[in-house]
Amino acid sequence: MIALYPGSFDPVTYGHIDILERTVGLFDRLIVGVAVNTGKSTVFTTDERIELLEEVIDGYGWDETIIVEKISGLVVNHAVNSGAKVLLRGVRQCSDFEYEYRMMQTNHKLDDRVETMFLMPRACHAYLSASLVREIAYWGGDLSPFVPDPVARALHEKHGRN
Ligand code: ADP
Repeated sequence: MIALYPGSFDPVTYGHIDILERTVGLFDRLIVGVAVNTGKSTVFTTDERIELLEEVIDGYGWDETIIVEKISGLVVNHAVNSGAKVLLRGVRQCSDFEYEYRMMQTNHKLDDRVETMFLMPRACHAYLSASLVREIAYWGGDLSPFVPDPVARALHEKHGRN
């Protein structure tokens, strides 16, 4: 069974990693799909987001089961083309629910061979978002509780800090 975990990952946080940690044993292959955003402007380019994810995943020693891919088109099409029957999404709080509900229904309408599954993060990560991390990085705050070291370094470099 193959699952696709799609997202922006701008950048990958301990919240995303929480979802990966808890699903890695449940699927034969987990594809982390990095979306080429059309609507959002991102701090990191698609290639940078992919490189950071690969570095972080490598550090956890999951590289056999988890692979990172770029998603250029529709997420459901990418899932079908990769053999994934499951789309994995995280729901943190009620505020995520409405958006995720619409995405799930839309994706199902586009292709009902793909099912969306939701996971809730551990409470300690439920407040965490990439946008919060970007804000802290912008103002030079301590990123260590929120992202792994390579991500913190890359964010500080983006803002001209070493
Ligand atoms: P998108 O732009 O598609 O929402 P994100 O990178 O922000 O991309 O999120 C990708 C997925 O990871 C989404 O399902 C989101 O709900 C989930 N996610 C993000 N942060 C967390 C977190 N702290 N805990 C659990 N899931 C999270």
